[in-house]
Amino acid sequence: MEQFLVDEKLDIKSLSLEQLTEELKGRGEKAFRAKQCYEWMHKKLVRDVEEMSNLSKDFRQMFRESYEFTSLKMVRVQESKLDGTKKFLFQLRDGNLVESVWMKYKHGNSVCISSQVGCRMGCRFCASTLDGLERNLMPSEMLDQIYAISIYTGERVSNVVIMGSGEPMDNYDNFLQFIRLITDGNGLNISARNITVSTCGIVPKMRMLAKEHLQITLALSLHATTDEKRKKLMPIANKYSIAELMEACAFYMEQTGRRITFEYSLVGGQNDTEEDARELIELAKPLGCHINLIPVNPIKERDYVQSDEKHIKRFKKELEKNRINVTIRREMGRDIDGACGQLRRSHMKQEECKEC
Ligand code: SAH
Repeated sequence: MEQFLVDEKLDIKSLSLEQLTEELKGRGEKAFRAKQCYEWMHKKLVRDVEEMSNLSKDFRQMFRESYEFTSLKMVRVQESKLDGTKKFLFQLRDGNLVESVWMKYKHGNSVCISSQVGCRMGCRFCASTLDGLERNLMPSEMLDQIYAISIYTGERVSNVVIMGSGEPMDNYDNFLQFIRLITDGNGLNISARNITVSTCGIVPKMRMLAKEHLQITLALSLHATTDEKRKKLMPIANKYSIAELMEACAFYMEQTGRRITFEYSLVGGQNDTEEDARELIELAKPLGCHINLIPVNPIKERDYVQSDEKHIKRFKKELEKNRINVTIRREMGRDIDGACGQLRRSHMKQEECKEC
């Protein structure tokens, strides 16, 4: 359990029920105490050990002294007047900031979480990666984003997408533990089928994930149809070719029986021609992929522009003509620092101004 040590203390909310039982057993506690404690943290979502009322005073004192019990501080909430989307900025115990988004859809409430503070993947159009990677999030810190939002809204979270800041496959072990905890029947019990993880395409980790045989949806950020074009947008393309990515996708489908989604951000003049659409069809057809088109959300640090309406429509039509299952990602919360990493950046800039 060394993986879950934070400043030499065990990050108790990152442990599975089995691990928590083992840990507490080592302190002479009965197994049912672990179950009670686990439910307080992961089902009743308490943020202070004093609220764990069926545990003794001595136990609570031991808990307080021995463990790191994480929770997030809500720094800012922005609510969209257009569609009810809410964007949250949270502060972690060490002062770092992460953002998460709450979206209401017809099929349920969805939370998009971050998996790292910053990111080191360097995708050219993405705001999260501009200052590089600060640190990985612990499983508890990924859970906390969902817990804090469900307390704030008072509503059940039915869907989770790991599509905020960070590359989940670059924080693989913590990401996987997070999935185990969030789908656990003793916790929030979110169905694996309602979870989507998005990756820029770290092939060995995609293969490892396939072997876990989970029912989560894997979304691949493809964004280009040739290695040459992809390299211009995503540095990770220098490491893994599209051919290797397609093999890894086929392997994921074979191992899990789940369909893959390709994410494709349309960048004006870079990847939005009819030829691009046709090449994308060639890649998606054999795998039967779903394609999610995202009109690129321009960030001021880069000069990428969104494809115009005509190009987007033509691109979508071309895919549909070839019976590819395609959706355009509705731009939720356009009025509230929409793109990944923008809220955190704009807040950090304001704080810098206050200091000087
Ligand atoms: N690291 C993961 C999650 C990143 S964010 C990944 O790469 O998939 C989720 C999606 O949003 C990715 O497809 C990412 O490429 C895309 N994205 C990031 N910034 C964007 C922007 N400014 N406009 C459009 N899509 C963006």
